[in-house]
Amino acid sequence: MRVTIQQVRPQGEHDNFFTSTDYVRGTIQLDLQDGDAITRITVELSGSLLGSVIAAATNPRDSTMHAVDNHKLLNLCDNLFPPPHLPISPKGFCLPNGTNIFPFQFRFPILSTCHDTNDFIAHRNTTLPPSFSVQAPNNAARAEMKYLLKVKVERPGRFKSDVTEEQEVRFMPLDPSLPPPMLWPAHSKNSRSLLPNAVAPAGEHREHCMVTLEVTLPSPAILYTKGSLPLEVFAFAKGLEPRVSSPVRMRSLNVSLRTEMTVTVGPNKTTWPLLHQLIDHPDLDIEIHHLDEPPGQISPDLWKDCVVPDVTPSFTTCTSMQQHFLVITGGFSHGAGPIQMIKTTINVDVLTGIKPASDGAGEAEDESSAEMTYVPWRVGSERHLGIRRRSGSISTPPPAYF
Ligand SMILES: [Zn+2]
Repeated sequence: MRVTIQQVRPQGEHDNFFTSTDYVRGTIQLDLQDGDAITRITVELSGSLLGSVIAAATNPRDSTMHAVDNHKLLNLCDNLFPPPHLPISPKGFCLPNGTNIFPFQFRFPILSTCHDTNDFIAHRNTTLPPSFSVQAPNNAARAEMKYLLKVKVERPGRFKSDVTEEQEVRFMPLDPSLPPPMLWPAHSKNSRSLLPNAVAPAGEHREHCMVTLEVTLPSPAILYTKGSLPLEVFAFAKGLEPRVSSPVRMRSLNVSLRTEMTVTVGPNKTTWPLLHQLIDHPDLDIEIHHLDEPPGQISPDLWKDCVVPDVTPSFTTCTSMQQHFLVITGGFSHGAGPIQMIKTTINVDVLTGIKPASDGAGEAEDESSAEMTYVPWRVGSERHLGIRRRSGSISTPPPAYF
């Protein structure tokens, strides 16, 4: 007896990820040399999230003690045999020799609820996470999200074991469009007092000045992989005597994308970062104006060629979370004083921008539709994006996504 899974996918689609609302179609082929009795044939599409963290409660010298758990975030199941009009018989039904073919079809949902029943944590009804496998440095934690197509052929009798076959299915979520919440541009800023000129010119006192670095992203603060960086950066100086003081200059600008992965298993939790440099200008010389002289905006030409790297998108599940932050660091000097760094961080969501295959291009997304009824908004991200939720809007996705 041999059982195989044959997926039916459009030509050229085999290397692509499945995405939300995509169908997984195919046939189960059961090859029998002789007629054989079969009790039942089931096929399932499941998504399991494995988490593994060094357990804090164990002896710290024993680094091999990991707390492990496994949450089933997706579980779709279909009975292929016997047909619905026949009851399950413990003796099974005889199938003829040769190839027996059973078609199947599943559809990836946009939202899914974890099947785990442990009450101590929130098992979310949320966007399915992408397929991924990550490991923290020093093996301190591990997490893996795997989607599997699995077929099980049950046979009657104590001595005949079930025959199973499985196939991995790679998944990348479609960025959901949910009803618009109250949207505010996301921004963050940081200030510091710059050391004054090393040597004040004769007759001038050594003055202190306060420089502020402020960054803004249009709301919602979402970056698309392989997309541009819609960043606005402002810099102001305060406490300068206009026309008398030595100027404040921006000497460098660095923007990085920090990815933070958090894996939680019970009371044990590990977070680790990964840094991708997006732009680095170590030799700038831009005069920074006094606060009263707007606009104080740094030219976006400095990052016009920047492309957001193809990182695993943000996701939030009951036990694992991947967050992203833009880290903006400017170097400033006052007159001949030393270069001092000001750093500010803004929490963003990174999405893939995958859309159904109709238009293919993920480029002209948001601005093109002036009357944007729905914004891309991942369930679970509203808090760290600073999105103000409109009451009741989150629990019911628009009908298009059922
Ligand atoms: Zn769960």
